[in-house]
Amino acid sequence: MFDFVMTEEQIDIRQEARELVKWVPRQMILDMDADNIKFPKEFLREAGRRNLFGCRYPRQWGGRDMDWVTTCMVMEEIGTLGYIFSCTFGVGAELVCDAVILHGTDEQKEKYVKPLLRGDTFAAECLTEPRGGSDFFGTTTTAEDKGDHFLINGQKRFIVGAEGADYFLVYARTDPNGEPHKSLTAFIVDRAEGVETKYLYGLLGCRGGGAGRVVFRDVKVPKQNVVGEINGAYPVFNTMMIPERLGTSAMTIGAARPALEIATRYTTRRKAFGKTINEFQGVSFQVAEAAMLLDASRAMVYATARAVDSGAEPHVIRRMVSETKKFVTESCQKVVHNAMQAMGGIGYTNVYPIERIFRDLRLATIWTGSNEIMSAVIAAEWYREFARVTEPRLARDFEADSAEAFAEDEKIYE
Ligand SMILES: Cc1cc2nc3c(=O)[nH]c(=O)nc-3n(C[C@H](O)[C@H](O)[C@H](O)COP(=O)(O)OP(=O)(O)OC[C@H]3O[C@@H](n4cnc5c(N)ncnc54)[C@H](O)[C@@H]3O)c2cc1C
Repeated sequence: MFDFVMTEEQIDIRQEARELVKWVPRQMILDMDADNIKFPKEFLREAGRRNLFGCRYPRQWGGRDMDWVTTCMVMEEIGTLGYIFSCTFGVGAELVCDAVILHGTDEQKEKYVKPLLRGDTFAAECLTEPRGGSDFFGTTTTAEDKGDHFLINGQKRFIVGAEGADYFLVYARTDPNGEPHKSLTAFIVDRAEGVETKYLYGLLGCRGGGAGRVVFRDVKVPKQNVVGEINGAYPVFNTMMIPERLGTSAMTIGAARPALEIATRYTTRRKAFGKTINEFQGVSFQVAEAAMLLDASRAMVYATARAVDSGAEPHVIRRMVSETKKFVTESCQKVVHNAMQAMGGIGYTNVYPIERIFRDLRLATIWTGSNEIMSAVIAAEWYREFARVTEPRLARDFEADSAEAFAEDEKIYE
């Protein structure tokens, strides 16, 4: 991170996150990757005990009254342990609790946020369905109004914490005939009768997060568990996409960092043709590119975090967050690719953890909204912004600064 722009308080909390990173036993990392640990409760309890969750939330609910920049720093550090550590760290505390903090009632914060931030309970986020994740507003899980409660039926898949979570933030259709953006509601659903974890997926990487399918069959959910308004999931979803995508970006940087460190050290020790391989530009330029991409990613994450902290307009935040998620995840995949390439064959083996990082980070461009969806959001927001701003956008009309600028009969548009 760029320490010169950080406050002392931020540096202190980063140090606390690093202490947690040191605390994690090596065996826990190996056991998660081997699927011997299904969900890392021990790790999450420890994170809660150290008060590292949700540092941007008010103290009243268990946070530290800090900001998004600090949250990203913590997520980045936790990410160095492995992508799934930061994912399970973030899903409950930074995503589900974010929705409840911003849209929920005080009773919900007392009952669901406080224990989670202490590390006593765990939560999962249920958006994606077997029928698709990208077309989120096409959700088919239903919640039928039964007076004092709703009856939820449907299925969600790829849910981190399907195994392990005590409660779920579930989006379900409450108006079968309404417009897509006005017919979903967000609910807190306790793991209770009718909630079943169907099976856990065999994953390429990111193992140990309890990713599975969750089935809801006639699940009774009290009205007090509606988060936000009935048929009002849209604003909940919109704010939740900030932690979802900005948090993912920060933790992706963390997850890629060890790969660069390991490759840098290796290339200064390993010899070929009588020289250490970092003396070959073919190798050192791979490392240099990785270092550059990590710094650029960091610059983007923390600029976007600042934008969110400063209360920039929602559509600007939406574009910046999506740009950040796309740029950082693609850059960090390249970082790990370069690290492996620079190490040759040994980088492909489990003698070094680069192969695990490589497997883990493959997911980065797919989840939390695929990068194709990020491009769609960026394009939509960019053109909308362009159309909205009617006053001159630049200091002068640069289109006129060419020799034949006034050849109007050449400026044909249709
Ligand atoms: C290990 C893992 C953990 C996950 N954890 C969670 C979780 O905890 N909670 C949760 O809710 N979800 C979770 N997800 C789901 C993840 O967010 C989705 O997989 C992702 O959003 C894509 O949805 P999909 O898999 O249904 O693909 P689809 O929506 O079927 O998309 C398939 C392909 O089509 C492309 N595509 C679709 N629509 C468009 C379009 N309009 N323009 C261009 N391209 C398009 C997509 O980019 C993708 O390449 C997880 C996924 C995995 C694999």
